[in-house]
Amino acid sequence: MKVVGHWTGGKPVEGISGRSGPVFDPASGEQTAEVAFAGADEVDAAVRAATDAFDPWSGASLSARTKVLFAFRELVNAHVEKLAAVLSDEHGKVISDARGEVQRGLEVVEFACGIPQLLKGEYSDQVSTGVDMFSYRQPLGVVGGITPFNFPVMVPMWMHPVAIACGNTFVLKPSERDPSASMLVAELWAEAGLPDGVFNVVNGDKVAVDALLDHPGVAAVSFVGSTPIAKYVYSRATASGKRAQALGGAKNHAVVLPDADVDFAADHVVAAAFGSAGERCMAISATVAVGEAADALVEVLRDKGAAIRVGPGRDEQSEMGPVITRHARDRIVGYIDRSEEAGAHVALDGRSFRVAGHENGFFVGPTIIDRVTPAMEVYRDEIFGPVLSVLRAGTADEAVALINANPYGNGTALFTSSGEAARRFHRGVNVGMVGINVPIPVPMAYYSFGGWKDSLFGERRVHGPEGISFYTRAKVVTSRWPAPRASTGASYHFPTTS
Ligand code: NAD
Repeated sequence: MKVVGHWTGGKPVEGISGRSGPVFDPASGEQTAEVAFAGADEVDAAVRAATDAFDPWSGASLSARTKVLFAFRELVNAHVEKLAAVLSDEHGKVISDARGEVQRGLEVVEFACGIPQLLKGEYSDQVSTGVDMFSYRQPLGVVGGITPFNFPVMVPMWMHPVAIACGNTFVLKPSERDPSASMLVAELWAEAGLPDGVFNVVNGDKVAVDALLDHPGVAAVSFVGSTPIAKYVYSRATASGKRAQALGGAKNHAVVLPDADVDFAADHVVAAAFGSAGERCMAISATVAVGEAADALVEVLRDKGAAIRVGPGRDEQSEMGPVITRHARDRIVGYIDRSEEAGAHVALDGRSFRVAGHENGFFVGPTIIDRVTPAMEVYRDEIFGPVLSVLRAGTADEAVALINANPYGNGTALFTSSGEAARRFHRGVNVGMVGINVPIPVPMAYYSFGGWKDSLFGERRVHGPEGISFYTRAKVVTSRWPAPRASTGASYHFPTTS
């Protein structure tokens, strides 16, 4: 059986803790690999390698760093198929979706290739007589990244290309569910000419995470995952003096107004709800049908949901794959069962869905639950599966009030043909990423990505300008170069601008 170890100091290393966990092919339900779980000493070895690499890498010229980034960009681009295949096999998402994930990660690499421009500072001539002032940004040191299972290539790429371009060194702790893509990314960094120790991977579970959070040699931590763990990571990392950003879970609503094109809205809601089996932090998991939009919308959603081709990720015909584990499957089915008991109507039922030839795969079919109320568990919790709840609201303002009462604030979308309604919606909704007739409004790499409320702990979002800000700290220099023997004696008043 394949064994996945770690990547430390520019090379693969075997795990020595004696602890490990299984990796599955979610489409067959079979174990395909065993991944090593790092102990604190293995995390320490990675942090030490990153510490040793920091001085030379942060001191490398911008041209030298950019050269590596461009080479990495070319290599990732040349390996889209391989990366997509590796991640699809362990995550289960369909291959076309996996290619799209790598593409979105690549866009962050391309953003990071512009680092000379992004790190430009400010300069003020003659702020006082003979005195100039300038500011620039310097890297933090060793930074850690802790990432979820649902985007094993893209989410780490929200972090490491930007952190490394800024001159930091990086220790990634990927999800233990689908670790292999990160090992391939490490190989590509090495092939691109990144010096040993600048990018490291430690695989593992809570033990490795805690070791990173507590390590005095780690200056900052970026986390993406579920809200309870995001809260925990943020508080533990900041308690030990680290800079931290922790992106959490989501409950994303799509609001459909009566003036929307129902067919257009339904196509996009279904794609956003069931794409990647609903395992996206920007997936639409709740649709709010406003006024008379409701009944017609549910009918069209059900027809479109039922037509989705569900199958193994590697089958080019599949539009939706399995969920990540057997436990996730059972958990999702439990939510559907209890929603029915609570009085909701299961309009499209994916509970007993089976794929011929893949009977042991972790499949749940597209499921639409109508007449959901805000008090129901199926609405309150993040389910992270192919389950779409439909709620009803009398007006657009009622829909906004519903969204604003939800603890999460990652993404939302409005479907309408009214510019006035769209403007009122995006100004009034307490959510970080808003789509107008766009179901999954993921910002491009040159904007920053992040939600509000329980979807983000810490005040800086990932990539874009806030990513640069997160991975650097600003310095302001006040400088005077007096002519030789120009001293006019000591002055004891507070310096002013004369
Ligand atoms: P998760 O929180 O279970 O795991 C995320 C990471 O934390 C993994 O590396 C895992 O090993 C580690 N971890 C898990 N339990 C831990 C513990 N008790 N102590 C320390 N570390 C622990 O999340 P997941 O199931 O891998 O991913 C799905 C979640 O991620 C969903 O909630 C989804 O919304 C969220 N997510 C959010 C975004 C975003 O941008 N906000 C993006 C992608 C995923």
